[in-house]
Amino acid sequence: ASALQISRWEKKMKKNSQDVTRDVRVRSRAGFETERRGSHPYIDFRIFHSNSEIEVSVSARNVRRLLSFQRYLRSSRFFRGITVPNSSNILDDDYNGQAKCMLEKVGNWNFDIFLFDRLTNGNSLVSLTFHLFNLHGLIEHFQLDTMKLRRFLVMVQEDYHSQNPYHNAVHAADVTQAMHCYLKEPKLSKSLTPWDVLLSLIAAATHDLDHPGVNQPFLIKTNHYLATLYKNTSVLENHHWRSAVGLLRESGLFAHMSLENRQLMESQIGDLILATDISQQNEYLSMFRSHLDRGDLCLENANHRHFILQMALKCADICNPCRTWELSKQWSEKVTEEFFHQGDIEKKYHLGVSPLCDRQTETIANIQIGFMTYLVEPLFGEWARFSNTRLSQTMLGHLGLNKASWKGVQREQSGSGDDVDPAFEEMDSDILPQEPRLS
Ligand SMILES: [Zn+2]
Repeated sequence: ASALQISRWEKKMKKNSQDVTRDVRVRSRAGFETERRGSHPYIDFRIFHSNSEIEVSVSARNVRRLLSFQRYLRSSRFFRGITVPNSSNILDDDYNGQAKCMLEKVGNWNFDIFLFDRLTNGNSLVSLTFHLFNLHGLIEHFQLDTMKLRRFLVMVQEDYHSQNPYHNAVHAADVTQAMHCYLKEPKLSKSLTPWDVLLSLIAAATHDLDHPGVNQPFLIKTNHYLATLYKNTSVLENHHWRSAVGLLRESGLFAHMSLENRQLMESQIGDLILATDISQQNEYLSMFRSHLDRGDLCLENANHRHFILQMALKCADICNPCRTWELSKQWSEKVTEEFFHQGDIEKKYHLGVSPLCDRQTETIANIQIGFMTYLVEPLFGEWARFSNTRLSQTMLGHLGLNKASWKGVQREQSGSGDDVDPAFEEMDSDILPQEPRLS
């Protein structure tokens, strides 16, 4: 890795997390306290009054409208006695039939999670995860109560914020589907235990639980209580994990297991979810790389297996650019919408716009090309070394095609003349590492 590889883009990604401890294995030693259900990351705008001379007049009502989180909406609906009617229209049977039909191909990399979500009336995460539990024989093996399982999955799905353009239950369902595809890969499937599969699916389904739709730097600079609670380190990931543990306990899904096993499960789910912190990617990647260089990964070893599952979940989490263009493009639009929304809030409240969040200077194509070059390609390159299968080749194939497509969009935009942002051109030269910049 040359100094040149430390691109402007990477610097942007890291700019706000420099003070953060870089220990991959960092985790609270304070046991496994959960976060109270309903302790959603509500962002209190009053804090901007206290330490800033800029007068922001925004009523509590407006604040709620601005960042009205899933939980708030549902509880207020509940208290006002409004229930969301169960849609029982004549088309439901037909949709159910089509959704069931889709589940027969749940291991297919082209699986269209957006269509599946529409066919299940917004219940993709519950339907898909329940199906996978069944498919992997987990219900039988762990003697799970299917009512408790369904209730647990409904709570998980509800604790995602449906108003987030990207970090919502559909993303969680997509990651869970990808994880399932990786679990089926020959190297993994022959060595994984039912326990490993159970943890992988739960971690995938819960890995972004109660995501507020803003990133860690935002929580830090607004003095959000979660940033304080987790000492500015893997703030969101810690919150997702603790929220997942809270729901596991509340559901009683594993109440019939020994306390020791439940604690082991909670801590191992934490290891998986914490691995999805993108700011720690280099640490995980270099560990992965040195294992592959030494050829010393032994999947009979539980620690090695769990390391591979961490890598698999990381891949599943950022696999959007490895899907077909039709799916990949939709994800790109959604994630950019969420970034730009954060940028809009930061502008409005004079918080300083976070990297990649400024709709005036960034474009979807630039963001995607940077993301692919510096995060997705290195990760999936190593993954293909580990698991050199047709799926890995398919994913790398889509990745290459999608990148070419975004470059086409980029050329079109810069070719159109007039309104080319200078930052855009600067970035364009930054994110093309294959150009002979060493000479
Ligand atoms: Zn995610």
